[in-house]
Amino acid sequence: MAVHLNKGRVGTDVCGPVTERLRLKGRVAMVTGGSRGIGAAMARGLAEAGAEVVIVSRQGAEEGEAIAEELRGIGAKNSFALLADVTKRATLDAAVDETVNRLGKLDIMVANAGIGIDVNAEDMTEDQWDRLMDVNLKGVFFSAQAAARHMIPRGRGNIIVTSSLSAFVANGNPQACYNASKAGVNMLVRCLAYEWARHDIRVNAIAPGYIMTDILGPYLEEFPEEAHGYMIRPAAMNRIGTPDELAGAAVFLASDASSYMTGQCMVIDGGYSLTPLENRLL
Ligand code: NAD
Repeated sequence: MAVHLNKGRVGTDVCGPVTERLRLKGRVAMVTGGSRGIGAAMARGLAEAGAEVVIVSRQGAEEGEAIAEELRGIGAKNSFALLADVTKRATLDAAVDETVNRLGKLDIMVANAGIGIDVNAEDMTEDQWDRLMDVNLKGVFFSAQAAARHMIPRGRGNIIVTSSLSAFVANGNPQACYNASKAGVNMLVRCLAYEWARHDIRVNAIAPGYIMTDILGPYLEEFPEEAHGYMIRPAAMNRIGTPDELAGAAVFLASDASSYMTGQCMVIDGGYSLTPLENRLL
């Protein structure tokens, strides 16, 4: 139904079958922390949907280059990798500049890089606190800012942030600082989404539960009882997730299929956050 308003607008010019709106053909994406784990899976998903992807990681150029090569192999022929430390604002600006110079633009920024430090709250040092917040909160903010500085003049863009289930629950680990950083990320997403909606930039988050990455694997093998107790059993689906189970959400958020969604956080946790264990009837 065509509606004519004196003020405001209805809908966008994005239309067509949803399978088409999910396609990312012609888009350019950057994924921080894209060289392995969750970031690599998201990068793969974006490339499979048609995007060219720039892989950003902090160290070990070979790791990022191996993923970029894989992406080129599945059709994202201009994908490449670069090293950048997300705690350094100038480095992020340089990474965006290099992307724009080589690929002409940046449509999608996935601010995914993050670290965890397990330490009892009473023992955490100032250095540990600063290191974690620098990557997880400052790094996300300045990744988004570096992208937005390019996106605002273009009047379009899409930013996706990797948050965590730990933004909502004390996750069973001594991780007060990590959990606070992810709760902060969720508020950043809301604020940036609000500020940049007028530039047609959408900002959303994905909050994974326990996901099998290189970091988790050895722990699960070494401490199977403990891992089952707080990582697997509390999830209603009774299992840990895999990185590729997050790729669909990344594609959805990056695509026009989610064109009316901004400032939100998609929790993908196998039902971990649904109810405390002791409430379970099943
Ligand atoms: P990972 O350790 O496997 O990968 C981390 C990536 O971040 C690597 O590519 C690394 O190079 C990069 N990185 C770290 N510090 C960086 C810096 N200063 N600058 C640039 N890159 C940097 O981790 P992962 O498990 O894949 O986690 C990715 C994201 O998902 C993180 O934000 C993490 O907090 C979040 N997360 C993970 C889980 C999980 O169970 N694995 C659950 C919820 C949220």
